[in-house]
Amino acid sequence: MKKNRGSLFIVSAPSGAGKTTLCQKLSSILPNLQHSVSFTTRPVRLGEVNNRDYTFVRENVFRKMAKRGEFIEWAKVHGHLYGTSKKRLKEMLNKGINVILDIDIQGARQIKKKYADGVYIFILPPSMKVLKERLKKRMCNSKEEMEKRLKRAVEEIKEYKRYDYVIINNIFEDAIEELRAIISSEKTRTKNIDPLWVEKKFFSLRSPQAARRGERIC
Ligand code: 5GP
Repeated sequence: MKKNRGSLFIVSAPSGAGKTTLCQKLSSILPNLQHSVSFTTRPVRLGEVNNRDYTFVRENVFRKMAKRGEFIEWAKVHGHLYGTSKKRLKEMLNKGINVILDIDIQGARQIKKKYADGVYIFILPPSMKVLKERLKKRMCNSKEEMEKRLKRAVEEIKEYKRYDYVIINNIFEDAIEELRAIISSEKTRTKNIDPLWVEKKFFSLRSPQAARRGERIC
């Protein structure tokens, strides 16, 4: 039996590796896995919903929250501020929910200082060539922005060694399966087994006589 506390999964990737789609698909197929809604100062994109995809706030509000220590981590990514709420994360983990954080490498570094036992997963595209093609499609109106993201991708990919797992997102279904396997196997880790449950199930059996005498049989 697993401990009551949820496990924490941190997923990072360079822009264009397909991380967000992978994380969304995963949360939809694993019932006890939820993503923590981050705060951001970036503008809302078409189809996004406040407090579902992100909590969208003005920069002055974000900075005040950061000053008050309300973020477990925060960072500037592609010119906008993003942060994970300490309160939201703790509440979810305490309720036993497994949490997936889709955050950048700067955020992951900060989280690692506080949650060393989290599971750190890095998503890679199959190659730089494929990453370029994906970004080209996504940023068709801004060559400058694409160049910026590619440069940044090189720096981000250098971080892969800090993560526990690396998934190459070539075939989407395979990448999902690998992610699912990592997440499912986490609950079987010895550190996640409740010692009180083991005690109750296996070491507190008593014979009727021993029970009367208040003794254990083991
Ligand atoms: P997007 O704006 O495209 O949704 O996300 C841009 C980048 O910001 C992605 O790499 C995403 O992982 C990262 N990001 C999203 N939320 C957070 C957060 O709370 N903290 C940090 N550090 N990065 C985040």
